[in-house]
Amino acid sequence: MTLIRPDLDTLPAYVPGRTVPGAIKLASNEVAEPPAQPVLDAIGRAAAGGNRYPDLGVVELTARIADLHGLAPERIAVGCGSVTLCQQLVQVTSPGPGSEVLFAWRSFEAYPIVTQIGGAAIRTVPLDAGHRHDLDAMAAAITERTRLVFVCSPNNPTGPVVRREEFLRFLAAVPRDVLVVLDEAYAEYVTDDDAVHGRPLLDEHPNLVVLRTFSKAYRMAGLRVGYALASEQVATALRKVAPPFGVNSLAQAGAIAALEHREEILAGCADVVRERERVAAELRGLGLAVPPSEANFVWLPLGGRSADFAAHCAGQKVIVRPFPPDGVRVTVSTPEENDRLLAAAAGFDAAGSDDGQPSS
Ligand SMILES: *Cc1c(COP(=O)(O)O)cnc(C)c1O
Repeated sequence: MTLIRPDLDTLPAYVPGRTVPGAIKLASNEVAEPPAQPVLDAIGRAAAGGNRYPDLGVVELTARIADLHGLAPERIAVGCGSVTLCQQLVQVTSPGPGSEVLFAWRSFEAYPIVTQIGGAAIRTVPLDAGHRHDLDAMAAAITERTRLVFVCSPNNPTGPVVRREEFLRFLAAVPRDVLVVLDEAYAEYVTDDDAVHGRPLLDEHPNLVVLRTFSKAYRMAGLRVGYALASEQVATALRKVAPPFGVNSLAQAGAIAALEHREEILAGCADVVRERERVAAELRGLGLAVPPSEANFVWLPLGGRSADFAAHCAGQKVIVRPFPPDGVRVTVSTPEENDRLLAAAAGFDAAGSDDGQPSS
């Protein structure tokens, strides 16, 4: 016997990110602006009640979310960010060894971690040549051990969406006892008319779960609130395994205020979308094959040069997110911050091997 589960040895231990004084951070898909003023006001008021436990049932926020999506509150589970809900989803579907969790790769880096924590086996299907989900191959990879499938649209870190018609074909091919999770963390930035939207598909597909978050477009990543839309059966199970009092009272109050001021807050997404198209076009002009992104980041498929590019950018005080050996994810931010990224990228010799040195 060992004191600690030996299978945890293969999980990455947390390594604090390098902080570079004066650098701009384009590494985590956050929004540079602080939360909206009404959100800050609500947090301030809630802080005065910090001596009390938060509402365990997250009742008021759940009711607001239910209203927004036209669903019964029983079909909603609020979590400490949607990452925590991913972990709960593995917990409620996968009874340990012998269960498999399926997802595309490369996709959200939390999926393999929550799968391993849940004691299930990881099964991945490569993205296609366009950095998109290959849903037909994913459907074919489902076995009787598969308990859960994560589908990320737009896909973090590559950017493309899953199209509605291919997702419907996928749902039709998936057995009813396999849970399909559509992770829509970047839904507010999607402008493609053919993109899948999970909410309208929920009633027809009781094995579908839609994940949304306040971390990105609502500018509340530090407050930790996300939610799942699901069948009552699945949402009830998610609430059962939730960390007790996990969604704290500041987060609950902030998210309620954010929904009250939703339209003003989400108006900022249009600026990001405009900047996304500009940044992608300029990077393509530098010879980089940037796939079409529907999120607040773009993907630079730099392969073996990914770490070099990130180091080069850090030298220019621009922090980006390398995923060697595949590419680099860059968050789309304000025009000024994006210009600094573009200037750094223009000074990088993507084909060369001597970063920062003029090629001879
Ligand atoms: C950022 C992100 C989330 C959100 O995580 P939170 O825990 O809600 O902050 C979820 N899924 C994906 C794919 C993401 O990129």
